[in-house]
Amino acid sequence: MNHWTPELLSPAGSLEKLKIAVLYGANAVYLGGQKFGLRQASDNFTLEELVEGVAFAHDRGAKVYVVINSFLHDKDLEELPEFLKFLEALMVDALIVSDLGVIATIKNHCDLVIHLSTQASCLNIEAAMLWKSMGVQRIVLGREVTIAEAGKIKKASGLEIEMFVHGSMCMSYSGNCVISNYTQGRDSNRGGCAHSCRFEYSIDFKNTEKESLKSYFMSSKDLEGIRLLPEFIDAGIDSLKVEGRNKSHHYAGTISKVYSDALNFYKSHGHFLSSDMLMWEDELRKISHRDYTTGSLVEYADENSIYNQREHDDNEYTIAGIVLESRKNQYLLVDVKSAFLLNDNLEIMPFNGKISTLSLKFLKTISGIDIIKSKPGSVVKIPYAEGVERFNLIRKCIKNDVAGFV
Ligand code: SF4
Repeated sequence: MNHWTPELLSPAGSLEKLKIAVLYGANAVYLGGQKFGLRQASDNFTLEELVEGVAFAHDRGAKVYVVINSFLHDKDLEELPEFLKFLEALMVDALIVSDLGVIATIKNHCDLVIHLSTQASCLNIEAAMLWKSMGVQRIVLGREVTIAEAGKIKKASGLEIEMFVHGSMCMSYSGNCVISNYTQGRDSNRGGCAHSCRFEYSIDFKNTEKESLKSYFMSSKDLEGIRLLPEFIDAGIDSLKVEGRNKSHHYAGTISKVYSDALNFYKSHGHFLSSDMLMWEDELRKISHRDYTTGSLVEYADENSIYNQREHDDNEYTIAGIVLESRKNQYLLVDVKSAFLLNDNLEIMPFNGKISTLSLKFLKTISGIDIIKSKPGSVVKIPYAEGVERFNLIRKCIKNDVAGFV
């Protein structure tokens, strides 16, 4: 018997990351076009990439939501109808929106489904009902809402409810923040967030004897909700969203695999095993992250949610490459993302099942010349390995303790 589980919604920061997220188990992806979204820094999709990405996802039963969650000025709105017509013809599954003017424009020009962005900071039943009356079908709740509160909003409103389950956090109300505007001249609400809240700041106690204080006062830990999956399921939360369109291929693949493995296990068994939970948490520590917190998912976030440290990169693992082609009994062609050596500790991450070690008997350039080190950006040949598929990720253990994963 199949048990009900929420949708897993992964970030697609580029066409390649969309394919990785879908192949590693995401039920839906969200992405931005060249305009109107809040992630100017990610490789937003061109029109051609949108066509290819939507077809790729739909062919594999995954949905595509397009982010139009910038706050727009009148001159920006003039360009929107043409883009909406294009998206409607592509049959994207929903638009993620925060600006009322954008909602009105969508309703005037197309019949696409509207999801309210977390940027609109919907935190209560009354607000949810009002958004519903305006034609919103799903609400991505503000990250300040607990799972218990979200369950009540869902019950009372009858709307689809989406919540963040993993990723970086804003210390402001779901992005309603102007720190980057004032410190960097970049508008957070129009896609320019410079993550100014992660910086070190100092407090100068003028005219007192107190010494000035330097610290990372506002940098939030990262959200991790895997242990709370039973609560999300019990509350009937429709969609679990992973933050991170600007993050790596390694992140897109790992997060999609871990959360989809967990949800699939629940779907078949109706419960989780604590040994699996430990293993999934272990995998989530292998991707780039700050210390983890459950944010406001159970109780409202407080000073314990602050990551009072300098940003550092001490990950155990990094991506080595992506498999481009598998020539049976001959070789794998690999797109090198970070340099690796012939004798590095490499692992192959299959779409389903166990991560396994990959020992290289040879490493060759595409034209067949033996090398001992690959160069980022190049394509290399490594020995064929049974079961390895196009778009499988190869990761490199930077420390020497390679752990298994089922
Ligand atoms: S600076 Fe920090 S708090 Fe402000 S929008 Fe960016 S991530 Fe959020």
